[in-house]
Amino acid sequence: MLNRIDLRGRVPSAAELRAALPRAEVDVDAVLHHVRPIVEDVRDRGVEAVLEHTERFDHVRPAAVRVPAAELERALVELDPAVRAALEESVARARRVHADQRRTDTTTQVVPGGTVTERWVPVARVGLYAPGGLAVYPSTVVMNVVPAQIAGVGSLVVCSPPQAEFGGLPHPTILAAAALLGVTEVWSAGGPMAIALLAYGGTDTDGSPLEPVDVVTGPGNIYMTAAKRLLRGLIGIDSEAGPTEIAILADETADPVHVAADLVSQAEHDTLAASVLVTTSVELADAVDVELERQVGATKHSERVRTALRGRQSGTVLVSSVDEGLRVVDVYAAEHLEVQTASAREVAARVRAAGAVFVGAHSPVSLGDYCAGSNHVLPTGGCARHSSGLSVQTFLRGIHVVDYSEEALREVAPHVVALANAEDLPAHGQAVTARFGG
Ligand code: NAD
Repeated sequence: MLNRIDLRGRVPSAAELRAALPRAEVDVDAVLHHVRPIVEDVRDRGVEAVLEHTERFDHVRPAAVRVPAAELERALVELDPAVRAALEESVARARRVHADQRRTDTTTQVVPGGTVTERWVPVARVGLYAPGGLAVYPSTVVMNVVPAQIAGVGSLVVCSPPQAEFGGLPHPTILAAAALLGVTEVWSAGGPMAIALLAYGGTDTDGSPLEPVDVVTGPGNIYMTAAKRLLRGLIGIDSEAGPTEIAILADETADPVHVAADLVSQAEHDTLAASVLVTTSVELADAVDVELERQVGATKHSERVRTALRGRQSGTVLVSSVDEGLRVVDVYAAEHLEVQTASAREVAARVRAAGAVFVGAHSPVSLGDYCAGSNHVLPTGGCARHSSGLSVQTFLRGIHVVDYSEEALREVAPHVVALANAEDLPAHGQAVTARFGG
């Protein structure tokens, strides 16, 4: 079922490898011309523009953008108890992991009388996006909200697309997840309309203000991602988190049933989702193909999964050794990387680029999607080469606080003057010497 790329006996350069490896053609730049007018319209006409574009793309017109508090309470009361218990477990585990990501202020004594302190200050207000197109993601509410709360963000709003079958409100499980986490502000808006409204703010249909945010985080489709790219600067964003990806580095010890199940699980997200197997074993690759045929036929979203697995973004890459496989997965920089080899822990410790790594037979990506405690908002499209997943750090800014005494400044003054003159900025030096009668 999967396309095959045979790299055995070849040592391609990183550039050749990038070109050879399967990857989704998610060309965000190609939709910027479509998204830019929507963003500008929301900037200029606010909520009225949001509602008009929402009617066009979501086929529903919410009565108001802000979800009434009573709807949040109702969604939580009516939530299936098993789903509530699972969400509570997910929240508890995520809180445990993210609590350890807190940063403490550090003061460095540079010289006697001269210190630099790095203070970690939370962003004032953030917008957290939970997608709601093909699937709804209450788990993404957890993954966004938990680190923001632990960072100490004072004001946060959750945004998710309105659903026609729920009268223009976001999906009830999204509302319930927000309520469970103590979030009181939820907006019913999706895609680029949501991101523009979060960035510019507006006035709701009843005249109440929708305050702009400083940072927007969360995954979304290509249109939502394009809006994030356009508005970056006015707002801070996390990394671009697009169609999901799984890469599995496996040798002959891996179980083809598990490998196939994990490839299918991520293909279920989206026809553009990528499922990539990197293996030293032709026998395993063949067995996974047979197993995929069986599992895809039996799975609920069979057509979506089949399209994703047959797309050019998915495939099997044959390599001669686990070392070569490591090189391939580092260049690919998958959002999710599973290591299913002998000595999986040792192999996983050598991975240099991935959004998250899942070690051995009993750590599937689905565990990380919901209940491992790790964050599931992760960089896609190779962005894991330079970016990390969502964390407490995403919501913090480090501020250097410089505190020098007169003596400490006097001692270093000649060096400041020399560097200022070297840069032909003598007033910089004079700002120091003026303090000493110079
Ligand atoms: P979404 O909420 O991102 O997009 C739906 C919204 O897009 C709708 O509200 C609609 O108004 C808007 N839209 C649709 N067509 C449009 C158009 N032509 N122009 C402007 N706006 C338009 O939900 P989705 O579509 O299901 O996408 C979610 C994506 O997030 C999937 O690709 C999924 O794989 C990904 N995801 C990634 C992660 C991660 O961490 N990387 C986690 C969860 C989901």
